[in-house]
Amino acid sequence: MAEQLRTEAGGVSPDDFRRAGHALVDILAEFFEGIEGMPVTPNPDAATVRALLPQGSLPDRSRDVPQLLEETARTLIRNSLHNGHPRFWAYITSSANPAGVLADMIASAMNPNSALWSLAPVSTEMELQAIRWIAELIGYPPDCGGILVSGGNMANFVCMLAARRAKAPWPIHETGPHDGPKLVAYVSAEAHTWVDKASDLFGLGSRQVRWIEVDEARRMRPDRLREAVAADRATGRLPFMVVGTAGTVATGAVDPLDALADVCETEDLWYHIDGAYGAFAAALPDAPAEMRAFHRADSVAVDPHKWLYAPLEAGCALVKRVADLERAFSHKPSYLDVDGSETDNLVMFVERGPQNSRGFRALKVWLGLQSFGREGIVRLISEDIALSRHMADRLRAHPNIEVTSQNLSIATFRYVPDDVDAAQDSAYLNRLNELILERLQASGAAFPSQARIGDSFVLRCCIVNFRTTAKDVEALPGLVAELGEQAHKDLLTQVANDQ
Ligand SMILES: *Cc1c(COP(=O)(O)O)cnc(C)c1O
Repeated sequence: MAEQLRTEAGGVSPDDFRRAGHALVDILAEFFEGIEGMPVTPNPDAATVRALLPQGSLPDRSRDVPQLLEETARTLIRNSLHNGHPRFWAYITSSANPAGVLADMIASAMNPNSALWSLAPVSTEMELQAIRWIAELIGYPPDCGGILVSGGNMANFVCMLAARRAKAPWPIHETGPHDGPKLVAYVSAEAHTWVDKASDLFGLGSRQVRWIEVDEARRMRPDRLREAVAADRATGRLPFMVVGTAGTVATGAVDPLDALADVCETEDLWYHIDGAYGAFAAALPDAPAEMRAFHRADSVAVDPHKWLYAPLEAGCALVKRVADLERAFSHKPSYLDVDGSETDNLVMFVERGPQNSRGFRALKVWLGLQSFGREGIVRLISEDIALSRHMADRLRAHPNIEVTSQNLSIATFRYVPDDVDAAQDSAYLNRLNELILERLQASGAAFPSQARIGDSFVLRCCIVNFRTTAKDVEALPGLVAELGEQAHKDLLTQVANDQ
């Protein structure tokens, strides 16, 4: 029996593998074909989900793998929240490109360790090519350094570490962050929460992050940035990095990327752009003018698992000068000194990022890029943006819906009943819209998420979804209004009962 486990690759015979694989592909193809007719989520409670799983300790006996796979796939399809559903518009979570789904299967089968060139010759070169293609798409120098990581957070972390190493005038990697003046980073008040984690991880402390005021379009104010930098210099701190955002998570706002580059140039600061969501919109012929400024940044974070539709997880860090990236991550212990990378110009990704062993996430990105081609990418992103504008127009046309923003493919809005004064009853409106969102998500009919704009709680739809059509978008105002009317009645009754 031990013999069989060894020869049959972990307990699955070649024949079982073939049979199970074919069956699984059929199940998944059927799932993709039918996804539109399913609820976005069956909205299961935790007890229901837990009851679906095997109870108790790990069974002693092995299970028939083809049967286990089929059961598992069906359980997942019936009980999951489907972010590939045409009416899933929450956060910034895209539908998965089917080519990427299959790519993941090849990637696991090859299972290269993409840390060293010698262990992963093809995957390393594919990753380098994917990085060059991504850089080209967004107008960044294709000879930059780069690495694929798990997502936008990690991509931003990688860039911040490169910035810290490049800008600290002392050997910070040896003596730590406290062997000099306090390093200060500048981000907009609308920046993503990765900044909190990074300031802790890299020893800045959250008090050394300046969240710079935004204008009425929620873009960082360069004048306020200059003032903050001057104030920090005056108190002996060391400004080192500015983060511009190309597409904020809440409303899709794009910071004045050119003006921020000017500040960084005159102040000698590392310029990083967080384009996790929005950067790929730079590939559009009619891209917002600000999107033409990526080439001015020292580093950029982009997320192939957002607008390139790679299945989770795939983020990408780009650093203009390869040496800056390698200085932050190359430690060259003797046991890794096997590739002769300097002589043969072979890249070892272990020297370009925080991970040691690394999987083949490059394949789904490399294949995905080709499955669309540049034209396909441009078309899909343009359509997402057009659909979001269409959504905002349709929402605006409803007398009880107020559209609060529309940028890139994100629209935010709230329901305002006739008898509620938006200025006077903002607390009530927040409660009402929270309830509408809760009920809309639970209904499975559509799945927006939320944002805060000033003091207002608003619903938020981000279309990073190649399955969404005009018909889906046009259904939204009716759903919101219907749930809104009922929620308003229920809340008023509740308020009356509470008094
Ligand atoms: C999504 C996003 C992030 C975080 O990316 P993950 O892939 O979720 O880790 C960071 N910044 C911005 C602007 C984003 O949109």
